Amino acid sequence: MAGTNTPVRVRFAPSPTGRMHLGSGRTALYDYLIARKAGGQFILRIEDTDQKRYVQGAEQELIDGLHWLGITWDEGPDVGGPYGPYRQSERKEIHLKYARQLVETGHAYYCFCAPERLERVRQMQQKSKEPVRYDGLCRRLDPAEAAERVAAGERHVVRFKMPHEGQTTVTDLLRGSITVENAVLDDTVLVKSDGLATYHLAAMADDFDMKITHVIRGAEWLPSLPLHAQIIRAFGWPEPVWVHLSVFLKPSGKGKMSKRESADLLKDGYSIFVKDLQDLGYLPEGVVNWTALMGWSLDDHTEFFAMEDLVKVFSLDRLNPSPAAINFAKLDHFNGLHIRSLSVADLAARLKPFFEKAGYQASDEMMLKIAPLIQERMSTLDEGPDLAGFLFREDVSPVAEELVAKGLTAAESAVAARRSLAVLEGVAECTAEVMEPPMRALVEELGWSAGQVFGILRVAMTGLRVSPPLFESMEVIGRGKCLQRLRAAIAALEELE
Ligand code: GLU
Repeated sequence: MAGTNTPVRVRFAPSPTGRMHLGSGRTALYDYLIARKAGGQFILRIEDTDQKRYVQGAEQELIDGLHWLGITWDEGPDVGGPYGPYRQSERKEIHLKYARQLVETGHAYYCFCAPERLERVRQMQQKSKEPVRYDGLCRRLDPAEAAERVAAGERHVVRFKMPHEGQTTVTDLLRGSITVENAVLDDTVLVKSDGLATYHLAAMADDFDMKITHVIRGAEWLPSLPLHAQIIRAFGWPEPVWVHLSVFLKPSGKGKMSKRESADLLKDGYSIFVKDLQDLGYLPEGVVNWTALMGWSLDDHTEFFAMEDLVKVFSLDRLNPSPAAINFAKLDHFNGLHIRSLSVADLAARLKPFFEKAGYQASDEMMLKIAPLIQERMSTLDEGPDLAGFLFREDVSPVAEELVAKGLTAAESAVAARRSLAVLEGVAECTAEVMEPPMRALVEELGWSAGQVFGILRVAMTGLRVSPPLFESMEVIGRGKCLQRLRAAIAALEELE
């Protein structure tokens, strides 16, 4: 176990094999928080040794996703550092050197079995209901002879020589000690026939070389933990603190999310992919707050956290190993809280691209007026154009029936609308300050409720029954357009009479 007085060095080690999802975001976040809190280092290492699964663009999406979340690293392929290279494919020779070392010390061996033979062994084992694993044929070869075959260029892999006797005990920080019988473990491939190390060797070697103190990774790696401990022990290296994070379950709590379910989710305005969440109008602050709490808590009541709070209070001993169901309602909740805690200028700037995407020509000045009107009403930024699009449109074309206030006839509603028009015509500017007092006086005079009278005006101005604050909205719409809209509403009401 790494000594307690060693500086904390953690790494996020994604494989660029697909889109960046919440699980990666959470692992990176926890790594980052632990490093920042301890004043240690956070390293980004790209694990790209699996050429078959390599996806073009995946690395860029990861880097962009981390930047968007506000996660920065001290060492990595883009920023360099004292323990590089940080891209695993560039560490091929280093991995091979370690593989040879294991062969020389009798902890690994060369295997020449062809894939067809391995397939036959697998089928036989399945038929006789034995555990499927390498049958050890090449383990019994004379090492000198095997070395000669390798030197002669024969196609081969390197396998770990798992002890047959005894047990392996490893400690996971969240789960305590885990013991398995070595007899159930396989002679796993450490170097493939293409000469590239597998994750098992590459990650252990790089963690050692990069002086990693804590390995924080997904629980899907737990079954490989005894193998990893064995590899590290075979080298005689210090063992890191192992932290396997809880798995994410789909919102129903049953199982992991499939591709198809992910696509369905997107239709509802949600996604498990970080880039999608950005496009759907989530703030990085909201996503960080939400994911931080998927598997960690400070106590049983504190739930609002900004990144700088998390850096102060986050700790590994408050992690929870139980699977966490993804709860998007909570994401909306946290996102709403973070939207409300932004300054108006910040919110305006973040909203602008969403208005532009919706086809509204939003000047900075206009956005500064709009942001405070809708700040309290949004849980995602992309709701902005729906809530405030009426401020931009030439014509809001309300449905005539909706202009009729509840409890009033069309004729009475038209009276209220005409009297409101008179108020509007009588004021020089249509600010909330100027408009509201005479409108309240009108409500008194008419003897109807404010809900009824203002409701008519609201539908006339916005085309909506529920809208941002009415008079403040009218101020943004401007007196000229307000007059037009109210006259159009009166005409529509008169048609109904
Ligand atoms: N490349 C591995 C993955 O993406 C990393 C696991 C680890 O952090 O060691 O799953």
